Amino acid sequence: MRSLAGLWRRSIQARVVTSTIILSALVISLTGWALLRDVAGGLAESRRTATISEARSGFDNAQEQIDAAVETEPATQSQTLTQMVDSLTSSRGAKRTYELVLEGPLESGSTQVPVRSSGAIASGSVPEDLSDKVQNKGGTFWQYSRLGILGSSDHEPGIVVGSQLNVPSTGDTYALYYLFSMAEQQSTLDLVRQALLLGGFAMVLMVGGVAWLVSRQVLNPVRLARRIAERYASGSLEQRMRVSGEDDIARLSTSLNQMAASLQNQIRRLENLSRLQQRFVSDVSHELRTPLTTVRMASDVLHDARKSFDPQTSRAAELLQNELGRFEDLLSDLLDLSRFDAGAAQLDLETIDLAEIARGAVDDPQLARKGINVVLVNTDQPAIVEADIRRIDRIVRNLLTNAAKYGGSDRVEIEVQQNAGCVSFAVRDFGLGLSGDENLRVFDRFWRADPARTQGGTGLGLPISKEDAELHGGTLKAWGKPGEGSEFVLTIPKPGGSPQPPAIVSVFA
Ligand code: ADP
Repeated sequence: MRSLAGLWRRSIQARVVTSTIILSALVISLTGWALLRDVAGGLAESRRTATISEARSGFDNAQEQIDAAVETEPATQSQTLTQMVDSLTSSRGAKRTYELVLEGPLESGSTQVPVRSSGAIASGSVPEDLSDKVQNKGGTFWQYSRLGILGSSDHEPGIVVGSQLNVPSTGDTYALYYLFSMAEQQSTLDLVRQALLLGGFAMVLMVGGVAWLVSRQVLNPVRLARRIAERYASGSLEQRMRVSGEDDIARLSTSLNQMAASLQNQIRRLENLSRLQQRFVSDVSHELRTPLTTVRMASDVLHDARKSFDPQTSRAAELLQNELGRFEDLLSDLLDLSRFDAGAAQLDLETIDLAEIARGAVDDPQLARKGINVVLVNTDQPAIVEADIRRIDRIVRNLLTNAAKYGGSDRVEIEVQQNAGCVSFAVRDFGLGLSGDENLRVFDRFWRADPARTQGGTGLGLPISKEDAELHGGTLKAWGKPGEGSEFVLTIPKPGGSPQPPAIVSVFA
């Protein structure tokens, strides 16, 4: 049932074919029903006209026979009537198409009227309504009925025509009924109904088949377009649709092909531009290294001799030394990033224990200098991963430096947890925190929460750490709440494992 619902939701073709079948079945049923009603009406009408006229001549014939009879004795009268019924019913011999029922004599007020009938007609075949009308009014009346056969429970459709007969010599009245079978008309109608049913069923199947073929014709190119669009989405823009003819589908294919070609051009242009930019940053950084080394040597000389300078020159020498340090840091960060961008960054893997690295962080000099208390959580058990120790050290150092620099709290927690697929390493402080979308923006290059840059820093530490984590197939994520603190979680997959789900869910999440 669920797969049917899924098919209905996913496949336009299934919807088109099903709705076409339902609608055509509805139309064909309505038409069939109207047709059948007309045929049934026509058959009944012609049979009725024929039977009424036959019955009328029968009534006249019977009345003439009665008029000719002179007996007045009830016994002989009854005999005459029986003979009359027999003669009427036998008048057509084997080809007789009706049966007769004679009721009478009708005495006013009497409910029990003697009945004579020809052949094997069961009582009750004459409807009571009709018999009431015939007995109480003069004239010829007719009604459709179901004729019963004596000794059988079967009934067949028929028409009953009745009229009064008067015996002038005694003044008695009789009711004579002609019962005509309509079995033949019924079987004709059954045949027509069967033919309509079979024809209708075949028609619905054919219409469904046509709908399937037509929708396939329209949908095949759409499916092809979808497949090609999926390939575009997965990055292979060189695929093209086959264009044949000049119809709407051909125009759609042409437009899709043009779109792909233009996208491919734009992407090539952007790739070139980005490659140029990366080259530019890398070249500039490299070019700056040589003069910077010279400037650094000169600055070292000035810095060493600062005690012999007057106070102002000595201060300038110190400033030069500090800013040169930042300049060198920035340059090395830029070189690192350009290596990531060029895809040239490489891992030097070895087996390392992240719990041991966490324990080593307790003695971090920056935290100690600021008097920050380091709390270790779950760092007793080994948490082994295959990683590049130089890069992991750089990430951890950066997180601790940031906690000391920006956290503003006197307590930092370091927690290590692991699950089947990965090891997570969290650095948590309880100070300034991060607000709004800062937990995402901290990973943007050159982004700093403090635009005045009073804290120094290049704004490249976290982006580089994130690249380092991702180079290991891991993740680096940040959470924070303003005034409550922030948490950075580094997750490194175990060999053959995955960083999802991480082993630590942030307390600020
Ligand atoms: P920087 O070299 O400036 O330290 P980072 O990329 O390491 O660059 O950090 C970027 C910015 O993220 C910082 O300037 C600071 O505003 C914010 N930040 C980093 N760590 C924290 C923290 N623990 N608490 C609050 N803000 C932080």
